[in-house]
Amino acid sequence: MKALAILGATGSIGQSTLKIVDRFRDRFCVKALTAKSNVALLAEQIRRFEPALAVVEEERAAGQLKERIGAGHRTEVLWGADAYCQAASMEGVDLMVGAMVGAAGLAPTLAAIEAGKDVALANKETLVMAGAIVMQAVADHGVRLLPVDSEHSAIFQCLQGQRAQEVDKILLTASGGPFRETPLSQFKEILPAQALKHPNWSMGAKITIDSATLMNKGLEVIEAKWLFGVNPEQIEVVVHPQSIVHSMVAFCDGAIIAQLGIPDMQGAIAYALSYPQRLALQQPMPNLPAIHALTFESPDTQKFPCLRLAFEAVQKGGTLPAVMNAANEIAVAAFLDGRLRFTDIAAVVAKTMSAHAIDSTPGLAAILAADQWARLKSQSMVEELAAI
Ligand code: NAD
Ligand code: MG
Repeated sequence: MKALAILGATGSIGQSTLKIVDRFRDRFCVKALTAKSNVALLAEQIRRFEPALAVVEEERAAGQLKERIGAGHRTEVLWGADAYCQAASMEGVDLMVGAMVGAAGLAPTLAAIEAGKDVALANKETLVMAGAIVMQAVADHGVRLLPVDSEHSAIFQCLQGQRAQEVDKILLTASGGPFRETPLSQFKEILPAQALKHPNWSMGAKITIDSATLMNKGLEVIEAKWLFGVNPEQIEVVVHPQSIVHSMVAFCDGAIIAQLGIPDMQGAIAYALSYPQRLALQQPMPNLPAIHALTFESPDTQKFPCLRLAFEAVQKGGTLPAVMNAANEIAVAAFLDGRLRFTDIAAVVAKTMSAHAIDSTPGLAAILAADQWARLKSQSMVEELAAI
């Protein structure tokens, strides 16, 4: 029986993880669940999975959660940043599932690793911000860091039984998002409701916007660099609108190994939960004759400058990826609030990045300081642009 702490349990990945747990009760149990503020859903999940601990962000939400689950319930309810770390590193937990969104995932992920827990990581922002520190902690504590992101799960699967030194390239596939065929001249008018309609994947709001700007693919390039120990030059982004090939690895002899499946996160989540075994998920296979053609094209970085910015961030390194990530979080939130144009997301990120003095070998404190600096800087740019 594997005991899980699921951070970000009420989100898209968190809910899919719990669906798998529910189907395989003989293999998994839940020790801790966390969310930001969705106490209604978290209370339901607590009733169903009976974790020992539940954590929310604020005291008020904790009070509401306690009321919902009722006095005398055996689940302890806590709140705040330290409590997220407590949930991640709790005694008896075997695997922490990092399914929270954004920079908030970094501290609990490090807490889990330092407590010797294996981690199934969906929260790519953690690796973007502090990949060097996280990977060093993984090595120091001898734990497994298992990718949940579908592309990285695919790459991880393609690498099974292979030698790292024989990898030539990683071919990271991208759906291209909803605006792949939209002319650049129309980008200024894109509204949140349009950007929230992803053609193939159903996901949380932030990653859906990141998929529309291709920043998601940029974040994934950085995530891949750290997870698989490759240089950014070895990572190539390939647009594949059908989202059937989840990514590929090219080897030194010219062979390419690909992993295919339907666009559903359950496959990648299940593999991270049960690695090295596979769960009998009984997912439908992609109907290849009906799909007819799998197509591939190069990304258009004129239309999607965020992808170029991410390559710049990973090449320059140091604190720059954390700055890019923080500025992107601020800009995406402002776009979702209707305070920033779609095209200004990349503009705010680019300007914040160029205003930053990079610390090339930062410790955790320097990364967190750069993150804070970038949030303030990009927030003030958003206010300026919103005032126009
Ligand atoms: P989501 O918005 O649906 O859910 C986010 C979860 O995190 C919720 O439970 C929320 O309560 C919690 N949360 C939000 N802000 C928080 C904060 N400040 N502190 C603590 N908890 C907080 O997001 P999602 O789509 O499930 O994505 C989660 C992560 O997984 C992201 O990093 C995303 O990039 C990554 N990811 C998602 C998918 C997908 O299919 N949804 C695929 C690959 C990777
Ligand atoms: Mg992905």
